Amino acid sequence: MTKREPKESVVVPVEMQARLEQAGLRRTLATRAVLGLFLANPQGSITHAQAQQSLTARGLDINRVTLYRLLDRLAACGVLQRHADDGARTWRFSLADTQQDGVLPRFECDACHRQFRLTEAGEPTRQVTSELLRTLASLGHQGLRVDLSIHGTCSGCLPASDANTLEPLA
Ligand SMILES: [Zn+2]
Repeated sequence: MTKREPKESVVVPVEMQARLEQAGLRRTLATRAVLGLFLANPQGSITHAQAQQSLTARGLDINRVTLYRLLDRLAACGVLQRHADDGARTWRFSLADTQQDGVLPRFECDACHRQFRLTEAGEPTRQVTSELLRTLASLGHQGLRVDLSIHGTCSGCLPASDANTLEPLA
C-alpha cells in the first residue's frame, strides 16, 4: 500500500458496515477502496485481476495475495458474492444483497457480466426462500443466506436476428 489517499471518499452503507463489523473486518484503506470499486458500479461483477487493475489506476498499490484474501473475506461475510466464471476459469465478485428483508433473484448475462435484479419477482421469491429455509431447519440445519441467480444472455447482447423474430408480422 502506498500512503496516497484515494481521491474519492467511499460511503459504506449501514447494512454493509454491520456485516463488516460482525465479521471483524477493520475498515482499512484497502477495504474501503475495494468496496468503493463495487459501490461505484453496483451492477458490475469483476475478477480479481480487474479489481487490482482498477485499484492501481486509482493509485493504490495493493499486494496480489492481500487482495485475494480481502475479496474472499468480503464474500465470506456476505458483503460480496463470488461466482465462477466458467469461460475465464476464474472467480467474479459482485455486491451481495444486504437488505434484511430478502432475496431478490438476479439475472447475470454471461456475455457482458452485467447483473439485473428482478425486483418484480421479490414476493414469490421470498416465499420460496422461506420455504427452503424451513425445510433446512426441519433437517436441523441453519441456513443463513440464499442466493438465487439465473444465467443467460441479456437483451443488449442477444444477436439482432433473434430480436427480429419477435417483431409482429406485417
Ligand atoms: Zn449482456
